[in-house]
This record gives sequence, C-alpha cells and structure tokens, in this order.
Amino acid sequence: MEKSRILVVGGTGYLGRRIVRASLDDGHPTHVLYRREIGVDIDKIQILMSFKKQGAHLVEGSFSDHRSLVDAVKQVDAVICAISGVHIRSHQILLQLKLVDAIKEARNIKRFLPSEFGMDPARMGHAIAPGRVTFDDKMVVRKAIEDAAIPFTYVSASCFAGYFVGGLCQPGNIVPSRDSVCLLGDGNVKAIFVDEDDIAMYTIKTIDDPRMLNKTLYIRPPENILSQREVVEAWEELIGKKLSKSSISVDDFLTNLKGQDYASQVGLGHYYHVLYEGCLTNFEIGDEGEEASQLYPEVTYTRVKDYLKQYV
Ligand code: NDP
Repeated sequence: MEKSRILVVGGTGYLGRRIVRASLDDGHPTHVLYRREIGVDIDKIQILMSFKKQGAHLVEGSFSDHRSLVDAVKQVDAVICAISGVHIRSHQILLQLKLVDAIKEARNIKRFLPSEFGMDPARMGHAIAPGRVTFDDKMVVRKAIEDAAIPFTYVSASCFAGYFVGGLCQPGNIVPSRDSVCLLGDGNVKAIFVDEDDIAMYTIKTIDDPRMLNKTLYIRPPENILSQREVVEAWEELIGKKLSKSSISVDDFLTNLKGQDYASQVGLGHYYHVLYEGCLTNFEIGDEGEEASQLYPEVTYTRVKDYLKQYV
C-alpha cells in the first residue's frame, strides 16, 4: 500500500520536529509548513533545511492567509498539527480553527490529527482553572473537526518524558537532582511517561491504520505506568544513591498555585491532575479509543529507567 502524504504543521516545534522525523523514517512523503512569520529565526530555518535535506517538502504558508493553507492541505492526504500548547512556551491551540477551515474547504484530507498529545481533554471537564484552558481550547477544536465531518485521530500521549521524567515529576524542574526530591502528596499515584520520539512514532503509525479512524490513541506503555516514587527509585538505582525526600500536601500545592503567574498556574494545574488526582490512570479505555502498545506491539518503546540514563 502506498503511504499517505503527510503535512506537518508546527514542524519546528519540540514535538513537531520529532513527528517530521518519524514520518520521513517511516517512508511517508512528508510536507512541512514553512510559515513566513518565522522571518529571521535562524534556528527554525536550519531545522527546516535539515528536513529538506532528508527529503521533506517545505510548503510556504501562513495562518493569516487562508488560501495558502488550502493550497498546502491540497497537496497531501493527511495533516498532523503540533502547534504550541504549553503556556510557559506559547499557547496557540485555537489558531487551528483556521486549519480546520482550510481542510474543510480542500475536502481531500483522509485524516487530521490536531495538536493534542497530552491528557484526553474529553475527560477533563472537571479540570481546575486556569489550567483547564488547555482542555477547553482543545475541545473547541475537536468540535469544529467533528462538525465539519473531517476524519480524525486524537492522540492522548500522557506525560512527555522530557518534562516529567527529567524533573522527577517536580514542576519547574527538568533535570533530576542528585540530592533531594519533593514528592507530590505520598508520591504513590500512578502516571504514564512516554519518550517524545515514541509519541511521534506511534502517531505516524495511526495515519494509514483504519482501526484509528475517528478514534483516540491512548499511549500507555505498560512498563512506564509508574508513580513519582517509582521514577525516583529508578533514578536512585542509576546513581547509586538515595535522595532526601520531602513532600507537599495537596492543600499546600493548591494554595501555592494561586500565588503564581498565569503560565505557571496553568502548568501546576496539570501537575495536580496527573500526580494527585491520577487522571491518566483512573479510567479504562472504552470503545472510543485504542491503546498504542497493544495496537503496535512491534514498537520497542523507551523504558523510564533507560530514559533517565542520559542524565547520569
Ligand atoms: P512548541 O511550543 O514547541 O511549538 C510548536 C510549534 O507551534 C512551533 O514550533 C511553531 O511551528 C508553532 N507556533 C508557535 N507559535 C505560533 C504562532 N503564533 N502561529 C503559528 N504557529 C505557531 O509546542 P510543543 O511541542 O511544546 O507542544 C505541542 C503539543 O504537545 C501541544 O498540543 C501541547 O499541549 C502538547 N504538550 C504535551 C505535553 C505532555 O506532557 N503531554 C508537554 C508539552 C506539550 P512553526 O514555526 O514550525 O510553524
């Protein structure tokens, strides 16, 4: 079977660049949106040029130019959007409504994957403010997709390892300490951690998979379903040393959250749901979804203990 042609939007991003690489590695004709607005951002230009060298087609376009988006979309079979959605970096989730309009007009797209890649927003209706904005905006985009009857796959990628494993699940930390760690509550709530390259690989596998049409892919690699304590223990084993441990109660965590700037409050709200509430592991996947490691057992995913080795 011929592989679908894929357009990646947000291809220079933290996740987007991995999706471009995974698409090329898997042999998909890969197009990457080159936004005029990036101007003289030399790092982005170099990333785009490296994609070109690897065989990607750069397609010029802009979110402020509807026609350019329609033209870009018309050249491919599937669109993956990895536009920014983390407030400490940038949050542009609703811009995707313009992409949805373009896909609606072009009418040739067999699969659209919007920028999700986190907790399942459909299960976060109860989320605390202001962090709930991430889920609310992602649900606005879902509604537009479904109203336009655009074939979709949603990817619920759980926790990016770079943020959560790197920082031993402590907000504001992305490199593991060799001395101490603060546990969120008792540190025993189970979360799920996924290497970002694995997220990209699983994402690409859904594109030509009819089992994932109009469904949610939940990425839950079984050996990476761990509590914060278990992540810390894996690190302690690697460095051959026990860390000194303190803990922050849920009440203190939520009180502390209120005094922070807006972007930090959003992020802390997400940590609350993942590590106190257990929102990634407190439900069974229903008919609306499939689990990635079961669907694609041929993928060897990165175990948390191996991910941590880079920091030793
Ligand atoms: P980035 O912050 O790296 O941004 C991705 C890309 O978005 C940029 O490279 C740029 O692409 C595009 N972009 C940024 N600003 C604009 C703008 N004003 N107009 C148009 N395009 C813009 O994104 P991430 O990789 O951090 O996030 C991607 C997704 O992953 C989001 O949905 C986010 O919520 C989710 N996520 C999940 C996490 C988890 O732990 N589960 C953690 C982090 C993110 P270009 O210039 O190439 O067009």
